[in-house]
Amino acid sequence: MLPGVSFLNADCPYEDADVVIVGNTFDHTTCFRPGSREAPNAIRQASYNFETYLFEHGVDLCDIAIHDAGNIEPGIFPDDMIIEAGFYLSQVVRDGKFPILLGGEHSVTIPAVQAFRDIAVITIDAHLDSRDSYLGSPNSHACVSRRCADHLGMENVMALGVRSISKEEAEHEDPVPYIDSFTIKEKGMEWAVRKALDSVKAEKVYLSVDIDGIDPAYAPGTGTPEPFGLTPLDVKKAIGLIGERMVGFDVVEVCPPADNGNTAALAARLVNEALAVWKLNRD
Ligand code: MN
Ligand code: MN
Repeated sequence: MLPGVSFLNADCPYEDADVVIVGNTFDHTTCFRPGSREAPNAIRQASYNFETYLFEHGVDLCDIAIHDAGNIEPGIFPDDMIIEAGFYLSQVVRDGKFPILLGGEHSVTIPAVQAFRDIAVITIDAHLDSRDSYLGSPNSHACVSRRCADHLGMENVMALGVRSISKEEAEHEDPVPYIDSFTIKEKGMEWAVRKALDSVKAEKVYLSVDIDGIDPAYAPGTGTPEPFGLTPLDVKKAIGLIGERMVGFDVVEVCPPADNGNTAALAARLVNEALAVWKLNRD
């Protein structure tokens, strides 16, 4: 673990913590705009923008025992990263703590999900990320939802906000289920999240937020910006609706070299939202 600035109010020792925040700076399979390795610390710094009190929830983050573990040293190869991160995250899950992961590119979600059994994964993402392998790696950020399905079953994966699917993915014999951003714009985020929660088989849900699921107008600082996206309020609503079923959370693909600061701030605020919703459902 490499020390960095701790996330806002995450000053509790590991043993006493109920929530563990951990960064994973891995970004070596990123194809277009690398730089998400800088995101964990940029998100931590941005967290100091915010009040610890979330008035709309009546929750003060100071009342949550949060440990910030710093950043996992991921190495160069995705397989090494998955072993290294998996080792730590399995311990967090075994100890019954709620993990919040700061990416890094989206492949950091793979070891986090593999640390669990009997859960579903809902992703928020512009991309389906369902390739069997990409540029020679089955653990590329373009393969995340398929690796989750390998581990949990296809019936326990759902992608929300998708608007970029390769022909190879569209014609795959075993496609990853999704609700596209155009349908969500028509029918609303509440409809989409309820449909996702009804369709997955497992009760417990890990929510993975690829920041490019949100429109680049709100989240410009990302590796592969894609127009026609969700709004930050859509994602806030999703976190609240998943509510007591949420057992883990991540925010990935923030790219500080491409950011004006607002994307890291949005990611930090989504972490605060997940913390507040976790706290409300625990009390
Ligand atoms: Mn992704
Ligand atoms: Mn994406």
